[in-house]
Amino acid sequence: MEKWELLIIGAGAAGLTAGLYGARSGLKTLIIDEKMAGGTAVDAPVIENYPGFTRISGRELMQRMVEHAKRFGVEIRELEKAEKLELDDAKRVITDKNVYEASAIVIATGTRHRKLGVPGEEEFSGRGVSYCAVCDAPFFKGKRVLVIGGGNSAATTALYLSELASTVKLAHRRNQLRAEEALVRELRNKKNVEILWNTQVKEIKGDNLVRQVLLHNNKTGENVDLEVDGVFVQVGEVPNSEFAREAGIAVNEAGYIIVDFRQRTNREGVYAAGDVTDRPVKQIGTAVGEGIIAATDAYGYIRRPYYYKA
Ligand code: NAP
Repeated sequence: MEKWELLIIGAGAAGLTAGLYGARSGLKTLIIDEKMAGGTAVDAPVIENYPGFTRISGRELMQRMVEHAKRFGVEIRELEKAEKLELDDAKRVITDKNVYEASAIVIATGTRHRKLGVPGEEEFSGRGVSYCAVCDAPFFKGKRVLVIGGGNSAATTALYLSELASTVKLAHRRNQLRAEEALVRELRNKKNVEILWNTQVKEIKGDNLVRQVLLHNNKTGENVDLEVDGVFVQVGEVPNSEFAREAGIAVNEAGYIIVDFRQRTNREGVYAAGDVTDRPVKQIGTAVGEGIIAATDAYGYIRRPYYYKA
């Protein structure tokens, strides 16, 4: 069993920032991540709304955050999955490799892609169905792609693909997008992007690879087959909170961890930060802020300086 003061689960924007602040305040700080460090922001083709960077790729921004955290002494262990939390007399994190005891824990496990849940999605995953444009766009150079969703992820994915694919269709189930105005404006200016309003994908079809999608117009009731080479599903996120919930951490009806204004969960000394929390805005900037608050409060909780108010 290893002992750490601050143990952070998840090395995305929130976790890395909590790590940076924890280590800089002198706490012995460890971050573990079931994947490589960087979190889902790594998959963002372009980031234009993180202050200080007018335009930077997700990969580069997150690489800088990883280096920054390491420079101040955070230890980061990748490819190590937290499987269980034990929060009785002590706080323990059991991973697939180790058992850790920590004075305080920050859960920053983020989210994973929501599945569309239609026939063919599973079958053609990796054979034309993708959830990550940055990872898979090169396969669709000069090809016809369909993006599904109406949020910021769908919009940024469609914009990114428009630089490579011959045509991009964006299918959204409503007659307006929820993506931010700057992205919607950019989409409108793209000659090879078409938005299919009130459109739901009912099935993904093909042979070895994706060939067609069955589209349903929920206004007219019409069904049509559309020929496509690739389908990018961008219909939102699901929080990675199951192991926390099993340990008695309170979550809301959608599974997001409930936090207060100091990023505290319902269990003393256990914090949550970033996309896994029930805070309404999911941005790299807000994840960074939440990581700062969590680590700062955790420092007070552990070391009890004279100014700390429990
Ligand atoms: P999101 O904002 O939750 O949007 C998901 C979209 O998918 C919605 O338009 C939703 O439709 C649609 N949808 C959900 N389930 C569906 C289904 N079964 N069939 C068809 N459509 C479905 O998710 P997101 O775009 O992945 O973004 C996640 C969070 O990250 C958001 O808070 C977002 O702002 C943030 N983000 C920000 C940026 C940026 O700032 N540039 C980039 C990426 C992500 P309805 O609209 O009808 O609900």
